[in-house]
Amino acid sequence: MLAEEKVHTLITAHSPADNFRLAALHRYHILDTPACEDFSFLTELATKVCAVPYAFISLVDAERVWIKSCAGMHMGELPRGESYCSLAVLGDAATEIPDLRLDPRTATMRLTVSAPFMRMYSSVALTSSDGFAIGTLCVLDTKPGGLNADQRAMLAKLARQVMALIELRANEKTLEATVRELELLATTDDLTGLHNRRSLLHRLKFETARAKRFRAPLSAVMIDLDHFKKVNDEHGHAVGDQVLTTLGRLLRDNVRVIDIPGRYGGEELCVILPNTPLDGACKFAEALRAKIEAQLHYAGARPLHVTASLGVGSFDHMEIDDAESLLRQADTALYRAKHGGRNRVECGTT
Ligand code: GH3
Ligand code: MG
Ligand code: MG
Repeated sequence: MLAEEKVHTLITAHSPADNFRLAALHRYHILDTPACEDFSFLTELATKVCAVPYAFISLVDAERVWIKSCAGMHMGELPRGESYCSLAVLGDAATEIPDLRLDPRTATMRLTVSAPFMRMYSSVALTSSDGFAIGTLCVLDTKPGGLNADQRAMLAKLARQVMALIELRANEKTLEATVRELELLATTDDLTGLHNRRSLLHRLKFETARAKRFRAPLSAVMIDLDHFKKVNDEHGHAVGDQVLTTLGRLLRDNVRVIDIPGRYGGEELCVILPNTPLDGACKFAEALRAKIEAQLHYAGARPLHVTASLGVGSFDHMEIDDAESLLRQADTALYRAKHGGRNRVECGTT
């Protein structure tokens, strides 16, 4: 009979207890993560301590056993039914099979009947903080036999180190995600979803330095809603807030990825346009003005239109000043737009 024909598949455990175990495994977000030297070191150490050629850190997923690290041979994953570790996580904390050919559960498994013809298997479960065996640290040999008491004790200690490393990586991931979330909260304006003033000014400083360094043009568009006090007075503050939220989305949807749209304060918005000279920024501002005017808002069932005045400031590569003077230029232009009758765009210093 061919080796391939003799291979049998174990029934995969789909019990409710296994679902809890899987949930514990998935909480660590370790499956399919890239190889990492810290884990490789521990498998290598396991082979040395146990004086065997092979060691694996195996994580038993629903249908597969995913190998986080291996020493002695390369293996990415195995179907769950073809892995000795699938048995280990169902049983005791430590599992040893002195001759895999003699155990009916493993005698016909692929790694027993074909190269490298494994004979001895010894493992310690990797136990999650809530008590589930999510995988194993295991060692294997092509000779039958077993570990001595010292080796078994060392393997158990190494398994605890593996688990501590898995916990550490998971905590680092959670911490990174929290930091990213906090960063987003600290830089985003709640109402509009745009950069808040602090973040906008921070990015402007950065973009000004970059424009200077690369002699690239940089523009800023200052936007102030027209007669917004009247919107609040006639329809209520909540409607005013809703208008700001809608215009925040409109701004986000109408800028390039490199542009930086922000809420400068109150009903004043601002867009920083890197790599954009004055004429390009004026075209952008005019298109934006038209979109703001066309945007329909509602006060209850009543439709409502809001317009804005826009001022554009710009540095070209010949004459690059500081961030404050760019905003001052845009603000002066905005002032002219207000005095020129509102719902209009004014550009530059003239
Ligand atoms: P102008 O055309 O000259 O800009 O007139 P305006 O009424 O918009 O100008 P003014 O600066 O006198 O008023 C700004 C208004 O914007 C007053 C303030 O209540 C309103 N506002 C500022 N921030 C918010 C906000 O977060 N929510 C709401 N609903 N209103 C705001
Ligand atoms: Mg204002
Ligand atoms: Mg206003």
